[in-house]
Amino acid sequence: MSAQGTNQTTAYHRILLKLSGEALMGELDYGTDPLRVQAVAGEIAAAHARGVEIAVVVGGGNIYRGLEAAARGMDRATGDYMGMLATVLNALALQDALEKAEVPTRVQSAITISEVAEPYIRRRAVRHLEKGRVVIFAAGTGNPFFTTDTAAALRAAEVHAEVVLMAKNGVEGVYSADPAKDPAAQFISELTHREALTRGLQVMDATAFALCMENNLPIVVFNMADGSNINRILSGSHVGTLVKT
Ligand code: UDP
Repeated sequence: MSAQGTNQTTAYHRILLKLSGEALMGELDYGTDPLRVQAVAGEIAAAHARGVEIAVVVGGGNIYRGLEAAARGMDRATGDYMGMLATVLNALALQDALEKAEVPTRVQSAITISEVAEPYIRRRAVRHLEKGRVVIFAAGTGNPFFTTDTAAALRAAEVHAEVVLMAKNGVEGVYSADPAKDPAAQFISELTHREALTRGLQVMDATAFALCMENNLPIVVFNMADGSNINRILSGSHVGTLVKT
């Protein structure tokens, strides 16, 4: 049981929440919207108050988008390192908002930036979680050619999270086709990893998905726009799409 309270009534004891950079962007074209960050922090704080151990992987798409023009023509690896640094900015913004909400939070970065964040140390991350601190994993996997989805799957497996919560913006979960392009697209409320693979359904990127499948890690894809969803998932309600073995 975690340090900050009881979690007898929650469906999961330790979760990994994947937030894309866009989840922090609000209505902006790019960048971070303080009100949005505050709202996300509020949802995490509510989950924390229920005694759930929470690890977060943040993306960087919201900031990286503003850098895309600069990155054009660059070596792919250089652009990717810029993307990873963008996730650090988001991690710090989220940490600040969480601490304003009185949630003890640590940022661990896969790229060493010792003045602003701890380095990623698995055992230390687990200890923070056990002590009831929210741990934000920044800088993705620390390697170019990967994504923060892969970082989410990797860290979830490493810290033994019971589930990966994939927050989406304005999308309820997994569909049989892209609902924005195909009006006949059907919502899928539950499926297995293997079904998702054979049907070619986009749950997360392929590397990340393979990691979840190999480690029998359940994934819940849900809409972050509904501020009650994380709380409902923790209460055991069926929200969005559940992918499990
Ligand atoms: N990135 C990377 N390695 C990682 C994670 C991220 O190179 O392990 C880079 C990559 O360029 C990616 C960017 O960081 O495009 C931002 O991450 P992502 O696109 O996953 O963020 P999101 O779309 O979730 O906001």
